[in-house]
Amino acid sequence: MSTWNSEKKTVLEAAQRMAQEGYVVGTAGNVSMRLDEPSGRGLVAITPNDRYYDNLTVDDIVVVDFDGQQVEGELKTSVETMLHIGIYKARKKVNAVMHVHPVYASIVAVTGLGIPPILEDQVTYLGGEIKIAQYALSGTDELAKNVISALGANNAVLLANHGALSVGRNMKEAYTNCAMLEKTAKIYVYARNSGTEIRQVPAEPLAVMQAFFNYHHGDS
Ligand SMILES: [Zn+2]
Repeated sequence: MSTWNSEKKTVLEAAQRMAQEGYVVGTAGNVSMRLDEPSGRGLVAITPNDRYYDNLTVDDIVVVDFDGQQVEGELKTSVETMLHIGIYKARKKVNAVMHVHPVYASIVAVTGLGIPPILEDQVTYLGGEIKIAQYALSGTDELAKNVISALGANNAVLLANHGALSVGRNMKEAYTNCAMLEKTAKIYVYARNSGTEIRQVPAEPLAVMQAFFNYHHGDS
């Protein structure tokens, strides 16, 4: 049994739930978790490339180091591995990352616009405006760079013409933030189509909530 059995199980269960919930179709998407190693070496448990989630096992979850080198697992690691690692390097408090293709977030992602701060829970869970990362091909360094930059200190981001990504201090948070992003996107899509003006969260309470968010999720 692997040292990281329980962490791999957490990654597997989140990935299977992500597929069942319809946040991805087929083999798309990827889920990872930062691993603690006493030596201090950075390690990540991540879903393998191009595999359906329903018949995946704990041993199919791959472990890689921060250079993307495979430490455990027979299967090929996710094509977005360096994107996940880049986020762990940039965000010290982030310990879980989910990359997904949910329908409503993807609708917004094809408009080329982000989602302004329209709901309180969007701000308290995700940090405020949901920005959109400029398009780049899957698996490229350019996509990783664009996503990390657009994510900034927030907990969710959209990927132009592609999908979305959420992060959290643990897997439960990353999963909840994925669901929060999709709920926010759904409300935004309906609100934009209602023909009436969209009202954003007023500036003063927005600043209060964002200060609270940064206290909990920020790195300083
Ligand atoms: Zn994708």
